[in-house]
Amino acid sequence: PGVQLPHDPEKKTLVILGSGWGATSLLNKLDTTDYNVVVISPKNYFLFTPLLPSVAVGTLSPRSILQPTRYVTRHKARSVAVIEASATEVDPENQTVTFEDDSEVQGLVSHTTIKYDYLVYAVGAETQTFNIPGVREHACFMKELEDAERMQRRFMDCLESAAFPGQSDPEVDRLLHVVVVGGGPTGIELSGEIHDFLEEDLRSWYPELSQHIKITLVEALPSVLPMFSKKLIDYTESTFKEAKIDILTKTMVKEIKEKSVVLQGPDGVKREVPCGMVIWAAGNTLRKLTKDLIAKFPNVQTNRRGLAVDDHLRMSGVSAGNIFALGDCTATSYAPTAQVASQQGSYLARVLRQVAKQDAIKAEIKALEAEGLEGIELDVRKKSLAKQLDKVSKLKPFQYSHQGSLAYIGNEKAIADLPFSSGNLATGGVATFLFWRSAYLSNLFSLRNRTLVASDWLKTKIFGRDVSRD
Ligand code: FAD
Ligand code: NAD
Repeated sequence: PGVQLPHDPEKKTLVILGSGWGATSLLNKLDTTDYNVVVISPKNYFLFTPLLPSVAVGTLSPRSILQPTRYVTRHKARSVAVIEASATEVDPENQTVTFEDDSEVQGLVSHTTIKYDYLVYAVGAETQTFNIPGVREHACFMKELEDAERMQRRFMDCLESAAFPGQSDPEVDRLLHVVVVGGGPTGIELSGEIHDFLEEDLRSWYPELSQHIKITLVEALPSVLPMFSKKLIDYTESTFKEAKIDILTKTMVKEIKEKSVVLQGPDGVKREVPCGMVIWAAGNTLRKLTKDLIAKFPNVQTNRRGLAVDDHLRMSGVSAGNIFALGDCTATSYAPTAQVASQQGSYLARVLRQVAKQDAIKAEIKALEAEGLEGIELDVRKKSLAKQLDKVSKLKPFQYSHQGSLAYIGNEKAIADLPFSSGNLATGGVATFLFWRSAYLSNLFSLRNRTLVASDWLKTKIFGRDVSRD
């Protein structure tokens, strides 16, 4: 009854967990004629994370940076099942995945287990809170689409509450103080976007309030953006200074309360700073599902940063060699970026092609043995198949090719560290911003999304951002 999963008994079942950068890049390149393919993800879409901060202030509309996963799968040579559900357990011994529909609406069946022959594990990571009190209750994250929408609503709510007649000046200052935690690229880009919103729209919509708006960026390390070159860190810091965005380095957030944030500066003294909103962009941690999977291999999987994989992205410790992992859920020598996850996805599509060929040859050898042939003929055919198998078993290891680091810093300025054979080019400014826009536009997976994003940019330029609170 109901929707059937693709089932060709001649083919192996490939289950892909996730619909983010790694999984989508794999799906784009995967030859689906090789497998019965099943995709399981709590989101039935791909989210283009690099433009999420632009959604948080209304530069882009949310739908423009989403791509339904079925948009990719419906063009595939063979039908692919897309299931909107969260995997709750991976059982490598029995080769099964259990998953449940944890969305608002559920049918009579909302929990089941399926078998896999190969599993691609690409569930990403979640936001790290370090168990700091109040983070989950009072801060906005910046990871999922809902986070950006929530932040936009909260920010507009702070503005409207500040505009309430009779509000005292200190209360207006509190409501309009935005604290961004984390001086990584997410925190920097978000601060830049909020500043743009202030300068380009709020100054004219809320002229009496705009001078009270204050952005403070808090970073525990001695500098922001440690992955960028020193020149670009200095450039970002001076651009933020001009934009009146305060950067507090060597400062830790110790607690977040309903109306304030507790900071500990380099002098070790704690102080409570009133604010209307805290945005938490303090990095990644593993999902529970990943921690549970790691715990099943206590002797091999010992890295607390993520799943250990070999050069071909096979999860270490799995004797059947049939779990592949990629992206933010893995612990490799690469940073947890979209660039790495998408290159791993494309690479894995090639690996899975080879694996399918190997399986086909192995099946042929088995069939040959079952045929009962004897003598020279059997030897010749077996030798030929063994040769073919040897050829397709030689898989090149994954090699990451760094295309450079890019970040938007507000005021129509971006920074870029671009590797060239002759050395590194570190550049920042308006020209880099145009490069940033064109790079992200061309990286969007579909023409539909490119068109939506480009028209949003144009709409924002002409009409400004929407200040209504939905
Ligand atoms: P994700 O893309 O996070 O995908 C994980 C998928 O798994 C999602 O579809 C999720 O719904 C699904 N999932 C979650 N739980 C389960 C479950 N239980 N079962 C099944 N599926 C599950 N990187 C860059 O290189 N450049 C940038 O400019 C950049 N900008 C960024 C901006 C922001 C705001 C953020 C948050 C990140 C940014 N990154 C950027 C980092 C980049 O987004 C990640 O490195 C990338 O998403 C990792 O890809 P992934 O496939 O491992 O995980
Ligand atoms: P991140 O890990 O790069 O930065 C988080 C920062 O928060 C760290 O510098 C950390 O010191 C700080 N921090 C943590 N706890 C703190 C506390 N209690 N008080 C003060 N500061 C605290 O996180 P991110 O910016 O979300 O980036 C995650 C990944 O995504 C990175 O690999 C990044 O390169 C990638 N990314 C890339 C881009 C881009 O290339 N433009 C944009 C966004 C994200």
